Amino acid sequence: MPELPEVEAIRRQLAASILGRSVERVRVHRRDVVRDLATRRLGRLSPGMLGAGQRVRRVDRRGKQLIVGFDGGHGLVVRLGMSGRIELVDAGRRRSVPPHRHVDWTIETGRGGSKLRMEFIDPRRFGGVHLFQSPEDLEQRLLVNLGPEATTIDPKALAARLKAGRRPIKAALLDQGMIAGIGNIYADEALFRAGIRPDRLVIDLDAGDLNRLAKSIRTTLALAIKAGGTTLRDHRLPDGSPGTFGLVHLAYGRSGEPCRSCGAIMSSDLVAARSTTWCDVCQA
Ligand SMILES: [Zn+2]
Repeated sequence: MPELPEVEAIRRQLAASILGRSVERVRVHRRDVVRDLATRRLGRLSPGMLGAGQRVRRVDRRGKQLIVGFDGGHGLVVRLGMSGRIELVDAGRRRSVPPHRHVDWTIETGRGGSKLRMEFIDPRRFGGVHLFQSPEDLEQRLLVNLGPEATTIDPKALAARLKAGRRPIKAALLDQGMIAGIGNIYADEALFRAGIRPDRLVIDLDAGDLNRLAKSIRTTLALAIKAGGTTLRDHRLPDGSPGTFGLVHLAYGRSGEPCRSCGAIMSSDLVAARSTTWCDVCQA
C-alpha cells in the first residue's frame, strides 16, 4: 500500500511533467471510482469537473494523498488505496489499453503538439478520485482529519500529538490523525532507526526516545523518497519505474533474517494488528 514516500515520488515526477499544462480531454471509463462527496452526485460527470479545458495549477501531497488542482481552485484528490497507480505516457504512442484503467487525462506538453496521457489505474479499486470544489472544500472535507506531515515532524510536535497514550507506539504512528503519511513499512523502518521496539507503549517513551524517533522518521522518509519509495507489488512511478528503497530496508519484511546492524535474527509478530519486524538487541 503506497505510503508517503511512494506518493511524494509520484508527485515529483507528475509535477515536472504536467504543472502549468492544459488538460485537453478527460475520459472516465469507470464512473464509480470518481467520488464527489459534497453533492453525493450520482449522475453524469462533466469533463470540466475533472479539469478538461483547464490548466493544472497545483500538484501537491498531504499524507498519502495526491492533490491535483485546476483553474478556479477546484481539483481532485487521488487516493491510491492498495494497488492504485498513476501512469504518464506519450499519448501518440500506440499501446494496448492497460487493464483497470479507470480515468485518463490528455495533457498538452507545449512541445510541438505532442501530448501526454495521465492514467489512473487501480486493479483492486480501494483507491479513487475525489473531487473538491475549492481549497476550502479540500481542507474541510478531505484533509480535515490529517495530523501534521511526517516529513517535517519535530520532537515537540510529536510529543504533543502522541500525548501519553497506552497504545503501542507503532499503532500511534499508523494513525493518520496523529501524524500523516506513515504506514506499515515506514513505521517499522523508523522505529528500527530510533532503536525503539514497536510494541513499546507511548506512555513509556521519554524525551530522548521522542527526539530519536522524530529524527528517524524524517531521515527514513527522506531516504525513501529519494529512492522512489518501496515497490512490493504494485507501486510504480508515473514513468513505469519501480521504487528501490526495499533493497535497503532495515526491518520491514526482514523477519528471520540477520539484523543489518548487530547480526541477531530479526523478530516478528503482530503489533497494532499488522505484521511487524524488529531487532530484540537493537531496539528496546
Ligand atoms: Zn540488531
